[in-house]
Amino acid sequence: MPEPTPGDSPRRGLILVLSSPSGAGKTSIARALLAQEAESGHRIDLSISVTTRSRRPSEVDGIHYHFRSVRQFETMRDRGELLEWAEVHGNWYGTPLEPVEAALRAGEDVLFDIDWQGTRQVAQAMPEDVVTVFILPPSLAELRSRLERRAEDSPEVIARRLENAREEIGHWREYGYLVINRDLEVSVEAVRSILHAERHRQERQKPAQILADELISGL
Ligand code: 5GP
Repeated sequence: MPEPTPGDSPRRGLILVLSSPSGAGKTSIARALLAQEAESGHRIDLSISVTTRSRRPSEVDGIHYHFRSVRQFETMRDRGELLEWAEVHGNWYGTPLEPVEAALRAGEDVLFDIDWQGTRQVAQAMPEDVVTVFILPPSLAELRSRLERRAEDSPEVIARRLENAREEIGHWREYGYLVINRDLEVSVEAVRSILHAERHRQERQKPAQILADELISGL
């Protein structure tokens, strides 16, 4: 076995935040991104949020969300166990802090599917670790039809989500990157390019910095 070099030790992981109004295709992008990254041997995990919303029939506790009562949610929040939390569409959502810290320390990246309120909190709490991407639907008509095609939600829920879309989109300026989701594959490619470039930012490449200095002193 060759001696390990500084270039082999892990860099600190990053947090990739994806936000969008419901129906812009963010979940499909996230899913495809995770699959493609895993296939190419990169380490990025989805952060599993805690929520007080009811479980949809297709969802599994502990995989899509940790489904909890309002009381359980409040206990976690009050104990400081959440990195961020927000009320979205009348339910509480939050990101458990510990798994994120552990992943970043281990040099693993973490994907967040959270709203603008949560993004703001994470950006404030961990500014150096966060990369933010806002996904836009190509048009209002497309947003509407994507929400209607998702048969699991009631008409009232769909109407509320459309109302909330205006507020969510209103925060696009707070994001570092914008992607218009016209085509799933193209959008996934765009988000992956952002991720790959951000991994190589000078400030995140501690091992490469050490290696560079070692190379210089050996020359
Ligand atoms: P859904 O109920 O459709 O799964 O999610 C509704 C919205 O809540 C989505 O925009 C999603 O990004 C957001 N969301 C999901 N988990 C979290 C979280 O942990 N924190 C925050 N702030 N928003 C979340």
